[in-house]
Amino acid sequence: PARRLEGIDKNPWLEFVKLANENEAVNLGQGFPDFAPPKFATEAFQQAVSGDVMLNQYTRAFGHPPLVKILAKFFGKLLEQDLDPQKNVLVTVGAYGALFYAFQALVDEGDEVILIEPYFDCYEPMTKMAGGCPVFVPLRPASTYKGQLMSSGDWQLDPDELASKFTPRTKAIVINSPNNPLGKVFSRAELEIVANLCRKHDVLCISDEVYQWLVYDGKKHISIATLPGMWERTLTIGSAGKAFSVTGWKVGWTLGPDHLLKHLRTVHQNSLYHCPTQGQEAVFSNFERELKLFGQPDSYFVQLPEATQKSRDHMIESLLTVGMRPVIPQGTYFLIADISTFKEKMPDLPGSEGEAYDSRFIKWMIKNKGLVAIPVSAFYSSEQKKHFDHYIRFCYVKSDSTIKAMDDKLQQWK
Ligand code: PMP
Ligand code: GLN
Repeated sequence: PARRLEGIDKNPWLEFVKLANENEAVNLGQGFPDFAPPKFATEAFQQAVSGDVMLNQYTRAFGHPPLVKILAKFFGKLLEQDLDPQKNVLVTVGAYGALFYAFQALVDEGDEVILIEPYFDCYEPMTKMAGGCPVFVPLRPASTYKGQLMSSGDWQLDPDELASKFTPRTKAIVINSPNNPLGKVFSRAELEIVANLCRKHDVLCISDEVYQWLVYDGKKHISIATLPGMWERTLTIGSAGKAFSVTGWKVGWTLGPDHLLKHLRTVHQNSLYHCPTQGQEAVFSNFERELKLFGQPDSYFVQLPEATQKSRDHMIESLLTVGMRPVIPQGTYFLIADISTFKEKMPDLPGSEGEAYDSRFIKWMIKNKGLVAIPVSAFYSSEQKKHFDHYIRFCYVKSDSTIKAMDDKLQQWK
């Protein structure tokens, strides 16, 4: 294998998706909705397949023209920028595609990239594949458990610690708000600290905002690109998979200034060249609808978080009954739950040599309790994994029947 693949052959999704499929367990692991997407979305896809025959052919390399136009219009408002559909929007194969292009296009051999722990796992191998060096900085849980549940907002960056990670070699920082796996939604004040450092040290920001519509309790999502001086140094990444509950469509995008996006286009034109046409046409129709309904009760971006918040609250209640302590998420598909009491009671669960406790616990839970989750240590650097092996991540963007099945399993467990 090429040297750039050294040390990145392991992947948590491979292992836990396989376990979920092999066992008759309630799957609260990998993040995907198991309910039907909204009707308007699937109808738009059907129309794209059965309508204009030219939609069976290649479309524009950097994004299907109607899609880039509507994305420019829709996000231009949110990002407070006059977006040029040709220059400021690039369509990719999912947000994964957008992230991969960002690292390949902008991170050079020896460049440092700051990753905030816990982080969506792919940022680390993607930094390394580009020849870069990940530099980690933790979100620190504010207080110890005092009878009250913690919120993901209680996990914060130490501003001085963050500042100490910026060096002359720092090329970029990755911000993921709302954050997978914690569900943290960064406040304006927190984003300002990051933005000030980016400006001071002339650092780029890769902002993964795939969960931007999934925010709860009246919280507001803020795009870091809207902060002063940030537009010109930020790539804002989104995903139709998360926006419309269609993760299998794999339509994603990056929004940003032309002087950055042109390099991502160079990666694209020399690798995939096109993204599938029909999914892009369908996503165009969906955004056309959402633009008309923006902020109104019929908007999917209004309805989805309302429904998801209910599932979140249901799951929190259920997990408490067996003695897990969920960290209340402000956003995303996920929550993490503290399993320290189990670690104290059953410290010696079987597992492979050096396997983190959370991973061993989940394998035990799948077999004995019929529930699948994801170990939170998978979202930490190798040095930190052992300090965060007493949390597991659950996905609550699930149908009522799945949530009910979870409830039944937890009632039996009690
Ligand atoms: N970023 C984050 C934070 C994610 O959780 C995911 C997983 N869905 C992605 C990016 C990738 O998104 P996509 O499925 O659109 O490639
Ligand atoms: N983003 C999803 C999650 O965090 C899926 C990741 C994956 O399957 N690679 O669960």
